[in-house]
Amino acid sequence: MATPTIWWVRSDCRLHDNEALRSAAATVGPVIPVYVFDPRAYGEQGYGGADSFTFQKTGSHRARFLQESVRDLRESLREQGSDLIVRHNHPETVIPELADRVGADRVVMATYPAPEEMAVETEVKTALRAADVAVERVWTHTLYHLNDLPTDYRSISDTYTSFRKSVERESTVREPIETPEVDGGPIAEIDPGTVPSLEELDPNLEPPARDDRAVLSFEGGETAGIDRLDQYLWGEDRLREYKQTRNGMLGQGYSSKLSAWLNAGCLSPRQVEREVRRYEDERVSNDSTYWLLFELIWRDFFQFQVAKHGRSFFAPGGLQQRTDIEWRHDETAFDRWTRGETGIPFVDANMRELNRTGYMSNRGRQNAASFLVNHLRIDWRWGAAYFETQLVDYDPASNYGNWSYIAGVGNDSRDRYFNSSKQAKQYDSDAKYVTHWLPELAVLPPRYAHEPWTMSADEQTDYGVQLGSDYPEPIVDPSVPPEPYR
Ligand SMILES: Cc1cc2nc3c(=O)[nH]c(=O)nc-3n(C[C@H](O)[C@H](O)[C@H](O)COP(=O)(O)OP(=O)(O)OC[C@H]3O[C@@H](n4cnc5c(N)ncnc54)[C@H](O)[C@@H]3O)c2cc1C
Repeated sequence: MATPTIWWVRSDCRLHDNEALRSAAATVGPVIPVYVFDPRAYGEQGYGGADSFTFQKTGSHRARFLQESVRDLRESLREQGSDLIVRHNHPETVIPELADRVGADRVVMATYPAPEEMAVETEVKTALRAADVAVERVWTHTLYHLNDLPTDYRSISDTYTSFRKSVERESTVREPIETPEVDGGPIAEIDPGTVPSLEELDPNLEPPARDDRAVLSFEGGETAGIDRLDQYLWGEDRLREYKQTRNGMLGQGYSSKLSAWLNAGCLSPRQVEREVRRYEDERVSNDSTYWLLFELIWRDFFQFQVAKHGRSFFAPGGLQQRTDIEWRHDETAFDRWTRGETGIPFVDANMRELNRTGYMSNRGRQNAASFLVNHLRIDWRWGAAYFETQLVDYDPASNYGNWSYIAGVGNDSRDRYFNSSKQAKQYDSDAKYVTHWLPELAVLPPRYAHEPWTMSADEQTDYGVQLGSDYPEPIVDPSVPPEPYR
């Protein structure tokens, strides 16, 4: 029998448009797909040193999403007569052992530029090469392929607009790859393994409670990802108005909500682009249809920035290596921010949505992040680490890229201060969003729901909302804008 190839499934949990799978299936011989839950991606982690801050690496929202994504991929492979081997251990142990057990002479894997992902990849590669197993690393997760950029990735512009213009002018998005047939070969003889429970992944993970107020239930997996794309474009015909609605905060339809599927690799950005082009041909082509692609290029931008800058992208001074900003490490204030108890409703509502559902709109993320770094002056990496725990769509490049951008230490940095009172009035004029997540303020007229600290003592009594007991006093004086630090 021909020698098997192992397809190490990472954040490319899909059969469609998957270059790693195509490459694994291209040679004669069976393909053994394997997904490994790496214990280092779960549990408490610390930054160590003077900033002795710890955080839970993966919270329950994303852990659940990943479990579902793996189960869905397994189902799809089983329908093809194959399977997905699942293990819970270090990949650098699992993959070489499996290669030895099945006699594989080649392992194909998707490659990612962020340091933690790259470190695991390097360990797996080293172990495999020592065992004389060939390793092939494949770029699978961006709209534009790394090899199709106008210049080498090390010389791309650090400014989004120049990057975007250059790829739009000089690069082409490749066609999505057809799904190959997967020959499972000896797979039935291998213990398939089970998807670990949340408790096995991290004893502190509680199953996330479903909250009816969530914008979507975000079910993991390629099947649900493709369904969401269909629903947003074709079923509900939302794309035609995306540019006007994308700053919304309530309901599933104001934006695509594709990020979680894109980042777990359940959905390929090229597949999204192809569907957008088809929509443009069959329905309408306008600013909105272009804008979704514009946002996907933001996603690409941060991926390639991480490839270019490596560790400094995640450093306190960011890729600008700034040393002049004194970040505070005030655990009490940080804790209030994480719990959505700063006393600033527009920030708190967003944080409570994040905690309950794992999702927050882009508008909300900008405001919550700006409040932490500009008003509270707390280390932006603490905020990014908290988002890392909670977000169902967490991705190292998009998360740390957006955080450092708002903190003024990353790409395109200039003043990124968001005035949350102004923003609240502009994007939530009727206070429906804040009262959705802060029902204790629902009795107040919109101006007080946004600025409860402006109520007199008599008004607090009349409305039955006492600051300091029913809802917190503001953590900072909201009428004083933060001092610029740049
Ligand atoms: C502080 C902060 C942290 C963030 N952390 C993440 C993160 O961990 N993961 C993540 O995917 N996005 C992150 N974003 C970007 C953005 O908020 C989300 O991608 C978006 O809200 C997801 O919702 P959507 O899929 O409906 O987006 P849509 O508005 O429908 O956009 C379509 C797609 O474009 C991409 N995109 C849109 N905006 C951005 C952006 N600013 N940066 C990168 N890609 C973008 C996403 O893949 C998104 O799915 C962050 C933004 C901020 C301000």
